[in-house]
Amino acid sequence: METKRMGFETKMVHAGVPRDPYGSAVVPIYQTSTFAFENAQNGADRFAGRAEGYIYTRLGNPTVRALERQVAELEEGADAVATSSGMGAVNTVYMTLLGQGAHLVSTASVYGPSRLLVEKHFSRFGVEATYLDTSDVSKVCAAIRPNTRMVYVESPSNPAMLVSDIQALADLAHQRGALLVVDNTFASPYLQKPLTLGADISLHSVTKFLNGHADVVGGIVVARDEALCGRLRALMIATGCNMDPHQAFLVSRGIKTLSLRIERAQRNAMQVARWLEAHPKVAWVRYVGLESHPQHELVKRQMSGFGSMISFELKGGFEAGRRLMDNVRLALLAVSLGGVESLIEHPASMTHAGVPSADRLEAGITEGLVRFSVGIEHVDDLIADLAQALDRI
Ligand SMILES: *Cc1c(COP(=O)(O)O)cnc(C)c1O
Repeated sequence: METKRMGFETKMVHAGVPRDPYGSAVVPIYQTSTFAFENAQNGADRFAGRAEGYIYTRLGNPTVRALERQVAELEEGADAVATSSGMGAVNTVYMTLLGQGAHLVSTASVYGPSRLLVEKHFSRFGVEATYLDTSDVSKVCAAIRPNTRMVYVESPSNPAMLVSDIQALADLAHQRGALLVVDNTFASPYLQKPLTLGADISLHSVTKFLNGHADVVGGIVVARDEALCGRLRALMIATGCNMDPHQAFLVSRGIKTLSLRIERAQRNAMQVARWLEAHPKVAWVRYVGLESHPQHELVKRQMSGFGSMISFELKGGFEAGRRLMDNVRLALLAVSLGGVESLIEHPASMTHAGVPSADRLEAGITEGLVRFSVGIEHVDDLIADLAQALDRI
């Protein structure tokens, strides 16, 4: 079905689904490692790209391909490459765009492993990086060098909820001969479409909102242009970080309810954020939907909704954070985000415990900071759970 001109919700359900000989309503799981050729000539033609058809699952698989087409349409990109994990997607982008002597500029509070991959591993191959607050375009402008190949931003960022101006950064990167890459995991294409704002690549940990059910790890990279997507695919194949067909089947299924899940979760998040803002034990709340968010106007221009990620600071600091974690009952005490179930975590003692405290503070991770991924439960139950846990601090 041709869905390119149809609405987002129609694409969620129908985009990428190929015609099936049995009329299967959903894309079957092609659980096979290899595909037989019709004859010697057909084998030669498939390898040469002269004939349609699959060869070997690391190179391509119908179930995975359907997911790639589905997400490429949702992001309004030319094409997409699915990967084994979100980090597989990040690595595919880094290895495709960076080489010996290259430099990148990135968000200081970017997903920790995305920064570690550069600082610990790409540095061994002569890649240089500058980490800064990309919500300040003038700082990015000053940091770009002649060898800067890529500006890599996460917006909203994790867990500081800083928002970067994608359109302004795309213009700046292009003027200076670099590409703009956006990690769109926190927003999902339902709320933000970086490629339509000028970014060259939008990538996801599909583990989070796209799959949305906390039962798959996976990633995807979407490119604005076909040729760039071809380079990304070649790298993914060479490094072997392909997505498995069973993973792709589950993610495709998750995506069919993306807008419904996000609508419900963000309605809950707004109520939880307002309730927390009024609570005496909470110092401040950072949620892109609140008027108190320093970039609320940019958010309204760049995103079509506010999502369901909330950060808040407890007046009692580190110990209060730990006590809250030990007393919540409904929200799961777990990392990750974007699922139907609410998840809560304390970055200073968990995800960011290994980061030196000075660096932590620079990335906006204070001692009493709590990150809450609001799920689709009944909002009264979520608030009651937080209320009883806060009472115990
Ligand atoms: C989780 C996450 C990743 C990494 O994804 P995995 O699927 O865990 O490999 C990358 N970026 C962001 C913003 C994430 O939240």
